[in-house]
Amino acid sequence: MAFSGNISGHAFSDDDADFDRRHIWHPYTSMTQPLPVYPVVSAHGAVLTLADGRELVDGMSSWWAAIHGYNHPVLNAAVTEQLSQMSHVMFGGITHPAAVALCRRLVAITPEPLECVFPADSGSVAVEVALKMALQYWQARGEKRHRIITPRHGYHGDTFGAMSVCDPQNSMHSLWQGYLPDHLFADAPQCGFDEEWRPEDLHSVENLLAQHHHEVAAVILEPVVQGAGGMRFYHPEYLKGVRSLCDHYNVLLICDEIATGFGRTGKLFACEHAGISPDIMCLGKAITGGYMTLSATLTTRHIADTISQGDAGCFMHGPTFMGNPLACATAVASIDLLLSGDWAACVKAIETQLKSALLPLKSRSGIRDARVLGTIGVIETEEPVNMAELQRRFVDAGVWIRPFGRLIYIMPPYIITAAQLEKLTQAIDKVTA
Ligand SMILES: *Cc1c(COP(=O)(O)O)cnc(C)c1O
Repeated sequence: MAFSGNISGHAFSDDDADFDRRHIWHPYTSMTQPLPVYPVVSAHGAVLTLADGRELVDGMSSWWAAIHGYNHPVLNAAVTEQLSQMSHVMFGGITHPAAVALCRRLVAITPEPLECVFPADSGSVAVEVALKMALQYWQARGEKRHRIITPRHGYHGDTFGAMSVCDPQNSMHSLWQGYLPDHLFADAPQCGFDEEWRPEDLHSVENLLAQHHHEVAAVILEPVVQGAGGMRFYHPEYLKGVRSLCDHYNVLLICDEIATGFGRTGKLFACEHAGISPDIMCLGKAITGGYMTLSATLTTRHIADTISQGDAGCFMHGPTFMGNPLACATAVASIDLLLSGDWAACVKAIETQLKSALLPLKSRSGIRDARVLGTIGVIETEEPVNMAELQRRFVDAGVWIRPFGRLIYIMPPYIITAAQLEKLTQAIDKVTA
C-alpha cells in the first residue's frame, strides 16, 4: 500500500494540512475546533523555516529546550556517532558508555549532595519518579506520608502524579475530583525576584508544614521561576526559607528544574540563586539541547540507600526507554558544548538586551507587568490574549512567539544574535502598541 504524503524534502501539501486538522491532536487543543498550526520543514540556528519558505526567528526554544538553536553541527555529530554504535538498548541488566558519561556530568554539575541519578524519558516522568522516591523513602522509614505541599501557580507536567501538584485552577483539578490525590497548596510567593524580601511570603507554607508535617512526604516547587503556571519570578529568599522549613520539619524538598536548568535563569541551576540544594532534583527539557526527549531525577545517597533498604528492596520504576543511548549521547554533547563556551556571559547579554527592550513596555495601557530574568522575557497583559490572532501577527512579523492566557513571553536559544533578538522584541513592541 502506498500512502500519499512523504517526509523527504520540504513538501507539505494541503492534503497534509487537512489530515493534520482532522486526525492529529496538538497540545491543549480541541479536535473539533483546532487552532491553526504552522508547518515547519527545517530549522537552523535560531530560525524556523515554514513549508511556504517563510523564515521565523524562534523566541521559544521549542519550550525551553533548544538552548543551542537547531541543527547544531556538534549535536548532529553526537547523534550520528551514537547512531553508528546503537540507537537504543534496554537499561535493565545493561549499561552503556553514553549513560555513564551523562550521569557523571549530571552528578558533577548539580549541587552536592545529589549523586544518584535516574534517567527517564520526559519531564513529567521525572516528576513522577521524584514523587515516588519521596513516598518510597518514607515508606522505607516506616512512616505513612502520602501528601505533598506545593505553592500555587506551579507546573510540573501532565501525567496524573505531576498534575496533582500543578496549580489546581490552571490544570482544572475540578475535572479530576476523586481521582487525584489530595495534596496541600500553599499561597504562591508574591515577592518578585528583585523586590525587597518580605518574610510573610513564607507564612502559608510554614503553616501547612506546622500543621501537617507528619503526613507530608515532600515539598515540590520550581526554583525561582514558576514557568507554565504563570511565568512568575519569585524571591530567592523564599526558596532559602522553604529549604530551612523542610529541614526544620523533616520533610523532603524536590526542586523541579525541568524548565530552569542548564543556564536559563542566569545560573546553571536556579537553586544556585538561593545557594540551596534540594533532596531530589528533576531535569529535562534543555538536557539534550532540545534534540530529543530525556529527563533525569537526582537524589542523595542517603535517600537512595533508604529506599533500597525498604520493603521493596529497590526503587519501583523502570521505563522501556530508560537511559536511551541516542538521547544520553546528545545530552553529553549539549552539556559539554554549554560548559565549553561562556554561557553565563551570553545569557547576561540576552538579559540586558531584553531588559532594555521589554521593561519600558510596562507603562503601556493594557500591560500589567513586564519582567526579565536570564533569557526569559515576559509581558503580562491585563486581559487574556487572542492566541490565534496574535500568533498570526507574530508569524507575519517573521517571529515565532506563542503566547498563552495573559502572557506574551520569550526564551530564545542562547545562540540568538542581537539583531534576531531585536526582531523578537520589536514584534512584541508592535503587537502591544
Ligand atoms: C515542561 C515541564 C514539565 C514537564 O515536562 P514534559 O517533558 O513536558 O513532560 C515539568 N516541570 C516543569 C517545570 C516544566 O516546565
